[in-house]
Amino acid sequence: MEVIQDKTALREQLLEWRRHDEHVAIVPTMGNLHAGHVSLVELAREHAERVVVTVFVNPTQFAEGEDFEDYPRTLERDKRRLQRVNTDMIFVPTVETLYPFGLQNATSVTVPGLTENFCGSFRPGHFDGVTTVVARLFALVQPDVAVFGQKDYQQQLVIRRMVEDLGLPINIITAPTVREEDGLAMSSRNAYLSDEERAMAPKIHEVLESAGEALQSGKRNFEELENAASGQLSDTGFEVEYVAIRRALDLSVPNRDCDELVLLVAVRLGKARLIDNIVVTI
Ligand code: AMP
Repeated sequence: MEVIQDKTALREQLLEWRRHDEHVAIVPTMGNLHAGHVSLVELAREHAERVVVTVFVNPTQFAEGEDFEDYPRTLERDKRRLQRVNTDMIFVPTVETLYPFGLQNATSVTVPGLTENFCGSFRPGHFDGVTTVVARLFALVQPDVAVFGQKDYQQQLVIRRMVEDLGLPINIITAPTVREEDGLAMSSRNAYLSDEERAMAPKIHEVLESAGEALQSGKRNFEELENAASGQLSDTGFEVEYVAIRRALDLSVPNRDCDELVLLVAVRLGKARLIDNIVVTI
């Protein structure tokens, strides 16, 4: 497994693979890898001969006052973890490699519309940072396939839109959310939870599941379901940012006949901001 920091070494390795007609899959991450990330790598492996995992805590996707400084950086452990799942390369660029003209002068990529609600409205500039860095990683690695997690539902839709809009020849694959045994979606940010908060956190998935069951059993008053779920979360002690039932395809407001819905939740709990979702196919 190669650990590569600079563009030249990256290009040489990519050329070598291309000479052998090997396909390349990319798994972009911010490191502090857990079983959710590993599942993305395993899925990537099913779609390409070569798998590149990128580890980069991207400053442009953190809003002012967010956890950029505190975000856990565990590269040595991440390397050991990736070695065990047969990764071909870890690309660990520096800020200078990814943003050669500096953060303030960087060409940025914006996907309008889809980024304006939900996480976009609670984290100003977040999705611009995500699309800007992912576009750069795509340009450097030129992957055939890219794997993202359903855990960040809005993010994978935004990336899909960017790729389609720019006509990039990259197959975007969305991997299912990996959960702890008690249902909590795995996340690097779970590390911010105190023991007491960690014990509360599975409630998010529980509330999503029970709203999902109500939808499956024919309930169609979406607003009522959203309010009930939001109420249950606030009563448990979460500060709710949003609970929303939307069309899975594009996050638009669904009508009664919509047969693929996504239930999205974002809450704050102590120092952590937690998001989760489930897709309900009727
Ligand atoms: P992050 O390092 O948190 O930016 O995440 C990198 C990638 O891993 C993103 O595509 C996430 O959606 C995905 N991911 C994060 N948590 C999970 C999870 N619990 N299950 C599956 N994928 C995940």
